[in-house]
Amino acid sequence: MPAVLRRLPQVHRLADSLPHGIPAVYRVQASQAVLDQARAAVRRAPSEAAAELERLPAAAAAAAARLAAPHLAPVINGTGVILHTNLGRAPLAEVALAQVQAVARGYSTLEWDTETGRRGSRMSHLDTLLPALTGAEAGMAVNNNAAAVLLALATLAAGRSVIVSRGQLVEIGGAFRIPDVMRVGGARLVEVGTTNKTRLSDYANAIEPGETALLLHVHPSNFRQTGFVENVEPAALAALGREAGVPVMADLGSGVLFPLELAGAHEPAVRDVVAAGVDVSTFSGDKLLGGPQAGLVVGRRDLIGAMRRHPLARALRLDKMTLAALEATLRLYREGRQEEIPLWRMLAQPPELLLQRARRMRARVVRALGGAGGAMLSVQRADAPVGGGSLPEVLAPTAVLVVRSAVMPAERLEARLRAGQPSMAVRVVDGAVWVDLRTIAPDGEERGAALCLARALGGGRSDGPLG
Ligand SMILES: *Cc1c(COP(=O)(O)O)cnc(C)c1O
Repeated sequence: MPAVLRRLPQVHRLADSLPHGIPAVYRVQASQAVLDQARAAVRRAPSEAAAELERLPAAAAAAAARLAAPHLAPVINGTGVILHTNLGRAPLAEVALAQVQAVARGYSTLEWDTETGRRGSRMSHLDTLLPALTGAEAGMAVNNNAAAVLLALATLAAGRSVIVSRGQLVEIGGAFRIPDVMRVGGARLVEVGTTNKTRLSDYANAIEPGETALLLHVHPSNFRQTGFVENVEPAALAALGREAGVPVMADLGSGVLFPLELAGAHEPAVRDVVAAGVDVSTFSGDKLLGGPQAGLVVGRRDLIGAMRRHPLARALRLDKMTLAALEATLRLYREGRQEEIPLWRMLAQPPELLLQRARRMRARVVRALGGAGGAMLSVQRADAPVGGGSLPEVLAPTAVLVVRSAVMPAERLEARLRAGQPSMAVRVVDGAVWVDLRTIAPDGEERGAALCLARALGGGRSDGPLG
């Protein structure tokens, strides 16, 4: 053993020297890890021993602080992408959060029927809301839309075949591939048409009585086909299915509860798809619904009933917190209070207001920097995607604070913002950091974001509270 190794402190000594506000387990764990690293470094390069010894306390303190902080933690979203899948998609409405608290803090009617005093069904909580909002006979909710599609296929098509257009054999982020889900659900995939063109006759010719269980339409959520393209709309598919006696299912991806017109794009409401005669429709809870992660299924009572009774339904069911948030979010639509859903509130902010907020943030950063940092800040209009595998290529107008530093490349500034406490996500465009005001809440969060920026640029205290 090199003699210098003996000069390294013992684990408990180092742990005890760290700030006692950090729980002891993390101080010990961090000290152990940092000492292990130091030993390895000294063995590799004995001449570095003094430097290793010197950096030990700071390295251990930083490692302990990291261990003590929640790993799943809030982030300031400065990307402008409202439904950012990596950042948790839709923020919840205040009433949804309140209902989660109320239900999760104590006991609830999760599976208790207050009229009979007997066991109730957790499925029952959405029994009147989903039909009222979509016009469907029945509805249910599971863990996410991927689970909804899987449950539908396993229930309605196991051991038989499902006809899908080649243009709709899509992969959604996180490796949700329609052919794979089909296989796991036990259904046989029958591809029809070509990548760019599928006609109604392609479906009609592929139907085999007794063998064909389902005609499936999949929303091409995250890409757009242009040019020499032909696709069959769910309504036409529904008519064919009715004629042939084969149920029709639509995986709507996002699913909106009112017809959405945004920057030239049109997204039909779930109600319109149901009215067109589609037998089963599935959609996400945390995309254009603006609620918690969930998968919603609406459609024919007999088909939904069969899905509820399938053993997979038990494995894919929602927990009480998600159910509480989902019911509260759906009630906002039912009561015409959708502007209380953060998704729609963010999207409705006029660019003029966002510009004003960007200027206010610039002033805050300049003030917090106090002349330090060599930062160049400007404000401009921009366009940003809505995100969440919804409305591909639809860019909605917004405003950004453009940040350049005389001493720091944009990539380094982005990394410093990411490593900050709290972490802040931004876009890097043309060698500058873009902070989009659309996804940053006014007031508190806006002030927090300004401080994060000032710190990352090198001004302001690095450990001060965010005000
Ligand atoms: C997003 C999406 C899914 C997956 O939904 P999750 O709720 O993320 O599981 C499935 N199908 C389509 C068409 C989608 O857009």
